[in-house]
Amino acid sequence: MKTLLVEDDPLLGQGIQDALSYNGYRVEWVQNGRQALSFAESAEFDVMVLDLGLPDLDGLAVLKQLRTQQFDTPILILTARDSTEEKVAGLDLGADDYMVKPFDLPELMARLRALQRRESQQRAPTLRHADIEINPANHTVLQGNTPVALSRHEFNLLHYLMARPEQVFSRQALADKLYSWDQDVGSNTVEVYIHHLRKKLGKDIVQTVRGIGYKLGGAPD
Ligand code: CA
Repeated sequence: MKTLLVEDDPLLGQGIQDALSYNGYRVEWVQNGRQALSFAESAEFDVMVLDLGLPDLDGLAVLKQLRTQQFDTPILILTARDSTEEKVAGLDLGADDYMVKPFDLPELMARLRALQRRESQQRAPTLRHADIEINPANHTVLQGNTPVALSRHEFNLLHYLMARPEQVFSRQALADKLYSWDQDVGSNTVEVYIHHLRKKLGKDIVQTVRGIGYKLGGAPD
């Protein structure tokens, strides 16, 4: 998960960066409001941790400007300001969560996970096709009510097809897609993954369109 950390206190910033990195987050750490704005504009982040007391722009001004620019990454405010007015202002300006310093790292981690869950549920709703239900937020697949174990690439491929049920894809288009997820995939992997999907979910899950490629199988009547 790519995180933009905005914190001007060097010790605290370092501590949070270390903790996030240790938990598998990729962290860009900036120490003032202007840098926060330019980083937020230049790259995609999954979550932002924003201090309010910054040396140049106030964190609330940063927040306001980002939300005005349709920056929709979840933002958690992490600040020493603990008045109700400040919390209300932060949340009303578009922050998704508000934590007061001093704080416990495990709670920060838990809140970031909660933000991420909420976000992925909004961005990637559950999809259904025939008796198959796929939930991108928690990477589960049900057939009927039975969980089906898929590898990461099988899951990605199925999700990609289910999100585009009418579309026919050439073998090459699917190979390019797989390659964009993982540059280590080999050249015959499209056939391999489709074979696995058919084996696990029934042969009709993917339809071969002769001379063209593949599409999601038709739903039975
Ligand atoms: Ca500060």
